[in-house]
Amino acid sequence: MPGAYETVIGVEIHVELGTNTKLFCGCEIDFGGEVNTHTCPVCLGMPGILPVLNETAVEYGIKAALAMNCRINSHSSFERKNYFYPDLPKGYQISMYREPLSEYGYVDINVDGKTKRIGITRIHLEDDAAKSVHTGNIDESLNSYIDFNRAGVPLIEIVSDPDMRSAEEMKAYCETVKSILEYTEVSDCDMEKGQMRIEANISVRSKDNPEITTDRSEIKNLNSVRYAMRAVEYEVKRHTKALESGKILPMETRLFDVDKGVTRTMRGKEEAHDYRYFPEPDLVPVEPDEEWVQEIKLNLPELPYDRINRFMEEYGLPEQDAVLLVSDKELADYYEECAKASNNPKSASNWILTELLALLSDAKQTLLECKITPDHFAGMIKLMDDGTISGKIGKTVYAEMFNTGKMADVIVKEKGLLQITDENELGNIIDQVIADNPSPVEDYRGGNQRVIGFFVGQVMKATKGKANPQLVNKILREKL
Ligand SMILES: [Zn+2]
Repeated sequence: MPGAYETVIGVEIHVELGTNTKLFCGCEIDFGGEVNTHTCPVCLGMPGILPVLNETAVEYGIKAALAMNCRINSHSSFERKNYFYPDLPKGYQISMYREPLSEYGYVDINVDGKTKRIGITRIHLEDDAAKSVHTGNIDESLNSYIDFNRAGVPLIEIVSDPDMRSAEEMKAYCETVKSILEYTEVSDCDMEKGQMRIEANISVRSKDNPEITTDRSEIKNLNSVRYAMRAVEYEVKRHTKALESGKILPMETRLFDVDKGVTRTMRGKEEAHDYRYFPEPDLVPVEPDEEWVQEIKLNLPELPYDRINRFMEEYGLPEQDAVLLVSDKELADYYEECAKASNNPKSASNWILTELLALLSDAKQTLLECKITPDHFAGMIKLMDDGTISGKIGKTVYAEMFNTGKMADVIVKEKGLLQITDENELGNIIDQVIADNPSPVEDYRGGNQRVIGFFVGQVMKATKGKANPQLVNKILREKL
C-alpha cells in the first residue's frame, strides 16, 4: 500500500559568506584566483597560530538568521570538530556545536499555490575546508591536489527540521533559502561555484505508525537543486522498497552519481562522538550586543515573502506570477523597472514570464546579458497602446529587440510592421478573403457567429499579422 507511507526529508545547506576576508585570518577571498595565493599560517593550520574572528562574518550570519526568523543566541561558542582529511590542514574544523549562533527559525515555502512552514533547527558559523583538485575525472585521476584558497572561508550551516514530505517541497525550500540569502546579500549563492551546497537526509515511514521507519540516509555534496531533487527521488524509491520488503537499510552517507542517476554508499553515518568535539580554546564566545542585533534586524531589506505580497497588492499580479518573479532577485528588480517604465505592470509580468524567460533559455543567456532594457520595453508597450502595432506583431518586435538591442520604433520602421488601420486597404483584403471562402460565408449567414474567428484568422494571415484586429472585426461584420 504505497499511500500508507510518507517521506521525511531534512536539509543541511552550507553557504559561503560573501565577506572580503576569511573567518579567522586576514586572507582575501578570491574565488577562481590562482591556486594557493591567498593563504597564511592561520588558514594553513601551522602550529601555534591564533585565529581572530571576522566580525563581518558574524554580522552576515546574524543577518541570514534573522531573515529566516531565528532567535539569535546571546551566547554562542566555537568548538573543534576533529577529523582527518587532506583538505583540512588543522586536523579539525572550527564550528559551533553545543552553542550555535541561532536557533528556532522558519521559512515559508510555496508549493502548488499552497504555503507551508518549514522549521529551521539552527544556523551556525564554521570555516570551510580547502578544495581538492583532480586532473580529469575523479575516478580516473592519478593525482589529487589541494587549493588552500578556500580553507578558512566563512560558512553558515543552515539545518532544517525534518519537515519536508516530498522532493518538490525540498526544492521549494532550497530555492526559498537561496532567494532569502540573495536578498540579504550575505552570499551570491552561486551553486556552480560551490558557494551553496546541499545535503539531504531522507527516510520513509508508515503514516499510521511513525515508528515503522527506515534509518535515514544522508546524501552529500549536491551542487544543484535539480540534482538534489533527482537524488531524493531515487532515495525515496529505495527506502519505500526496503520498507515494503522488510529489508533493513544501514544508516549511512551516500553520494549521488549524476551520470547514472543513482546514489551509492560513501561511508557509514558518523555520529557526533566520532568527531570528539571540544571547545576551541583560542576563541572567545560570541556574545552579540542586543542593540547590534536590533540594528541588523531594522536594516534587513525587503525579503522575498514580503515582496511577493507587495507585488500582488501593488501590481495586481496573481500569486504564482509574483512567486516566480520574486524567486530571482535580479528578475524581480528588472520586472519592477519594466513595470514602472511602461506604467503597465500586468503586461510587464506577462511579457517577462512568457516571452523573455523562453528567449533567455533558448539563447542560454542570463538576464544580465539581456539587450531589452526597461526603456525598450516601455517603447514597445507605447506602440501597442497607441495602436501602431498589434499584440501579435509585438511578439516579433520583442524577439527582435532581444536579438538586436534596437528600439521598438526603429524595428517597426525597418521591417515595415506598422499596423494596417486603413479601412479601404483592409476592406479590399477582406473582400478577397470573403470571395475565397464561400462555404464559411454561408455558415455565417446561416447563423453560425463563431466562423468570424476563422475570417479574422484569414485576414491576419493575409496581412502577416499587421491588421488591426478590432477594425478587422468591425469591417467583417459589416461585409458579411
Ligand atoms: Zn589565511
